[in-house]
Amino acid sequence: MADSGMTNQATDSGEFTRPPTGVLAPRRRTRKIRVGKVFIGGDAPISVQSMTNTLTADVNATLQQIAKLTAAGCDIVRVAVPSQDDVDALPAIASRSQIPVVADIHFNPKYVIAAIEAGCAAVRVNPGNIKAFDNKIAEIARSATEHGTGLRIGINAGSLDKRLHRLYETDPAGALVQSALNEARLFEDVGFRDFAISVKHHDPVIMVEAYRRLSQACDYPLHLGVTEAGPAFQGTIKSSVAFGALLAEGIGDTIRVSLSADPVQEVKVGGKILEALNLRPRQFEIVSCPSCGRAQVDVYTLAEQVTEAMKDMTIPIRVAVMGCVVNGPGEAREADLGVASGNGKGQIIVKGKVIKTVPEDAIVETLIEEANKIAADFPEQGTPQVLV
Ligand code: SF4
Repeated sequence: MADSGMTNQATDSGEFTRPPTGVLAPRRRTRKIRVGKVFIGGDAPISVQSMTNTLTADVNATLQQIAKLTAAGCDIVRVAVPSQDDVDALPAIASRSQIPVVADIHFNPKYVIAAIEAGCAAVRVNPGNIKAFDNKIAEIARSATEHGTGLRIGINAGSLDKRLHRLYETDPAGALVQSALNEARLFEDVGFRDFAISVKHHDPVIMVEAYRRLSQACDYPLHLGVTEAGPAFQGTIKSSVAFGALLAEGIGDTIRVSLSADPVQEVKVGGKILEALNLRPRQFEIVSCPSCGRAQVDVYTLAEQVTEAMKDMTIPIRVAVMGCVVNGPGEAREADLGVASGNGKGQIIVKGKVIKTVPEDAIVETLIEEANKIAADFPEQGTPQVLV
């Protein structure tokens, strides 16, 4: 296990303490690029991205959605730019957004230059969908350099360069990688290297293989994505599996979860994937049992109530909700706070010690009280209060 800098709080007093954890692999070394106030690659934290689904030309609706994404923890937001009306909206959106805005351009190379000049932090280009893109590379690179704008070469299986269709039939991952490297080389030939790369596919197996090969072939920062991953349930699983496999190998510098759902969900899922792998500081985390024939409380409802009550906690707190005393005290000991239920009561456990036993209907409010006391010990992060 690679060192994460986390401390092991074990003591020799015989008292049980939480075992150490860390990251699964050192981060692969990549070039660092700037996307507005956010860096991608190098030693920059892995960022979470999403994309608005408003009409970009509707500036107010787009900025409102960006504000929601920002509040949910989004680091970088992308907006679709399919028409001149959308291009015209970019200066207002780029200047008023709290987070860097990336313009997503297909088909029209003129829009790439326009988005750069509009002040977007970066532009995503899909060479497979931009007519005569290769002839525009020098002009795009010059403009991006002048404005300090980053690019993403975004290769998608659905719009792969026609020259690679034959290879795709036998080696889809290879074709995605080849397409990305071909475009990267054209930018390198004009001295431009401030770009990230993505090679997205809807099949997590192909996607993982493509990113693995790409990470061997170049040191550009990689934007991970399973494209068209599906509705929230399926998309969350596909993205988690694929991102998990790659991030566990140190591959990936920025991520976008694609869901057929509210983009706020994408941000939350992306953030939790990073937290689960210790690639972003964990905030509120609930450890709850699945319940079984031994359960002496409605664990599902209790876990939902606790999650809802504590979802806005901004301190790294782990809360255990256990349905009985079989595993309850043990799991609760590894949490900051927990409850082990039984006989219509709940044992409230703080930092491994049972501090009180309360009736079942007082469990949630007692947990919240104790969580607020723990939060008060984190003055440097404020003392977020949780409301019942
Ligand atoms: S903690 Fe108790 S109720 Fe929950 S799954 Fe384990 S044995 Fe069952």
